[in-house]
Amino acid sequence: MDFTLNDEQRQIYEYGDQLAKEFDHHYWLDHARNHKFPQALFDRIAKDGFLGLMVPEEYGGAGLGMQEMALFMEGTANNGIPMLMMVVGPCMSLSHIATHGTEFHKKTLLPAACRGDIQFCFAITEPGAGSNSMQITSVAKRDGNNFSLSGEKTFITGADVADYCLVVARTTPHDQVSRKTDGFTLFAVDLKKKGVDLQRVKVSIPVPEEQFTIFFDDVELTHDDVVGEVDKGFNILFDTLNPERILVAAIATGVGRFTLQKAVEYASERVVFGQPIGAHQGLQHPLAKAKANIEAASLLGRRAAWEFDNDIPAGHSSNMAKYTASEAGIEAVDAALQAHGGSGFTEDTGIYEYYPLMRLLRTAPVNRELCLSYIGEHVMGLPRSY
Ligand SMILES: Cc1cc2nc3c(=O)[nH]c(=O)nc-3n(C[C@H](O)[C@H](O)[C@H](O)COP(=O)(O)OP(=O)(O)OC[C@H]3O[C@@H](n4cnc5c(N)ncnc54)[C@H](O)[C@@H]3O)c2cc1C
Repeated sequence: MDFTLNDEQRQIYEYGDQLAKEFDHHYWLDHARNHKFPQALFDRIAKDGFLGLMVPEEYGGAGLGMQEMALFMEGTANNGIPMLMMVVGPCMSLSHIATHGTEFHKKTLLPAACRGDIQFCFAITEPGAGSNSMQITSVAKRDGNNFSLSGEKTFITGADVADYCLVVARTTPHDQVSRKTDGFTLFAVDLKKKGVDLQRVKVSIPVPEEQFTIFFDDVELTHDDVVGEVDKGFNILFDTLNPERILVAAIATGVGRFTLQKAVEYASERVVFGQPIGAHQGLQHPLAKAKANIEAASLLGRRAAWEFDNDIPAGHSSNMAKYTASEAGIEAVDAALQAHGGSGFTEDTGIYEYYPLMRLLRTAPVNRELCLSYIGEHVMGLPRSY
């Protein structure tokens, strides 16, 4: 394994530093506090060619891999710009459409999405099926080449700004399939279709991308809307799990570094009891410990991305990276907050807002317990626990 970045990867990693000159963390915070989608930021990212990082060049993308996508996300998060929409759109939706989509998806939707003309969101969670996706009840009833989609998805990030949603629905009842993962199909659903309705889920964390429940009421779809094979959607979904975990790790390590850097600056200047507070071990050691954990998690994330790009099973590293990074992210923001004293809780400082986001990453998109169960079972060989 060689984690030395080549020139292109370094430029991608440092892109966040450039971006932050125009769209800094104050810009992100302002949009996060007001739950306002940062359209100008996304337009710039689209213009600079980063939305289609993982999309092949023939469909308008850059043809790069997971390593570059993770470096991009970590580099922007290093500057206090974490982007959930990049996870659900360019990573979880576009890369699958590039591999499994129809000609219409690839030749029309992908180039438009890479240009930033249209956006994608991703919907699997339902009120009755969160961590256990097998329990989803949204159904796409088949009639020849047509389908009628009915059901409800919830917590869907960015559904208000998205034009299309990659939706997971059941196409064959569970008692008629031989494998429990069969019977599910992915559809690229045009959200302007008749029968689609949105209702905002008021999430209390400051984050620019809002969440929605999407209701599907007999939405008419055709075979052209299917991504991949009918009834085999989970084969594609399994490929999304590791990228999602790798990107969460990239966001958490980046935000962790950002808040620690702010804490170092503050603790080096703030004088209480005759010397800078950073000189006290009681304050310095929690920051140092968090820094060590962030960098360790970051390396695990790099390893996972490298394995993914090199067709090496990346489940072990991805789960360990997601677990360690989200825990290290929480620890880092907490230590940074403590170092700032009361000023950590002011809007001017803008540290506290990152805490709920880091705390979210312990729970979603995959919770800490499922990561630990994966590690216990698949990495360590313990009996399956659920
Ligand atoms: C801000 C936000 C954005 C989101 N964006 C999207 C999106 O864009 N698209 C989408 O499809 N979904 C999205 N989600 C949904 C998210 O993926 C789910 O909330 C997550 O998968 C957990 O599901 P749940 O909320 O139903 O929790 P549950 O499955 O009900 O679990 C609740 C808790 O129980 C524990 N638990 C569950 N199972 C086990 C087990 N086997 N062993 C031990 N403990 C367990 C865990 O601690 C877990 O946190 C989003 C959620 C939030 C809050």
